Amino acid sequence: MKKNVYAIALAFLGLGSFSAQAQDQRMAKTDPALITPGRTCATMEVLEAQMAADPSLAQRMAKVEQQTAEVLSSPATANRIGAVVTIPVVVHVLYNTTAQNVSDAMITAQLDVLNKDFSKTNTDAGLVPTMFAGLAANTNVQFVLAKRTPTGAATTGIVRKQTKVSSWSTNDAVKSSKRGGDDAWDATKYLNLWVCNLGQGLLGYAQFPGGSPATDGVVVLYSSLPGGTAKPYDKGRTATHEVGHWLNLRHIWGDASCGNDLVSDTPTQQTANYGCPAFPHVTCNNQGDMSMNYMDYTDDACMYMFSTGQASRMNALFASGGARAGLVTSQGGVAPRMTATAAEVAMYPNPASNVLNLSLPATKAGKGWTVTVYDLRGHEMKQATYNGQGQVQVAQLPKGLYQMTVSDGQQTLRQRFEKQ
Ligand SMILES: [Zn+2]
Repeated sequence: MKKNVYAIALAFLGLGSFSAQAQDQRMAKTDPALITPGRTCATMEVLEAQMAADPSLAQRMAKVEQQTAEVLSSPATANRIGAVVTIPVVVHVLYNTTAQNVSDAMITAQLDVLNKDFSKTNTDAGLVPTMFAGLAANTNVQFVLAKRTPTGAATTGIVRKQTKVSSWSTNDAVKSSKRGGDDAWDATKYLNLWVCNLGQGLLGYAQFPGGSPATDGVVVLYSSLPGGTAKPYDKGRTATHEVGHWLNLRHIWGDASCGNDLVSDTPTQQTANYGCPAFPHVTCNNQGDMSMNYMDYTDDACMYMFSTGQASRMNALFASGGARAGLVTSQGGVAPRMTATAAEVAMYPNPASNVLNLSLPATKAGKGWTVTVYDLRGHEMKQATYNGQGQVQVAQLPKGLYQMTVSDGQQTLRQRFEKQ
């Protein structure tokens, strides 16, 4: 059984051969005159290009499939059910025009849509047909704007950058500062969400688990955020769909005629649905396509569920050894602790294990700060050394609580910290 899933996954990942028909469809898609009206997600095209460029990607993705199959077949998996994973998100806004510089309010609204959709608290959840109502799932995945950067500084979780690039493609330039975009933050700790003006009528694309950390994340068209102008894709569901891919979900039709989406409780369906189809739309001998699933191509107003099987598949990534397990313990969503005694001095991370970063104001005496670490009985700890540039090495300190004094000869600030 395990072997079968693995074999299917390998075939699915392109280790088998692509059909000539699929090739034709891809070629047709690149011709603007032949683009089908409707939702356009480039995730599978990007995957194919990445696989062609990097032969080891298929193997890494096959490993993710193997791990997923193992987790899903193990009774221990049940331990994670009910535990919510909250993923820190960094939003990279790349704008060439004022309109593309989406507001903080739109970004907050987008996070809100993600949180509602992934927890089945979306207001349209009640529209799910009776046949599928029992399958609609709270995925237990939640999202929060990052509150600290990878180096431990405070952040709003939103990076704004003006760019000369007026329109972006799927070549991942938007994820590179050198190419006019903005570099990814540590992909094991954050969901990177790039918001920009995607060209070619694209709404978005994502990278599956197993890909390169430098390009890991999701890209969405700026006007697809809630309240944007990309009607009928203006309710933020493009991000829901793309984050689904980022958490290893396939298109609901399995990207083939009556294909396999690697999830057992979603009906086999012939192909993508567009617009707002009436239920049931019967194909491939099913009792109706699950066209209201976020992983179909329907309008934002006409998709409103993930299935239980999709939720399990996503959550397998957070199990020990999973491709997204680092997010479970990420501190990216937790604000760095500020000092209570001297508001001007920020100290992070606290607790610290190797390096304690200090953000210090200009000294009143015009000289540098000296930093001294004491144990709670007042003995100076020589193992902790200050580099004169905002960093205290604490790796050699035994675990425990310490007191630090920061002095410029005129004023002395005291603060406690913990060595982990
Ligand atoms: Zn897609």
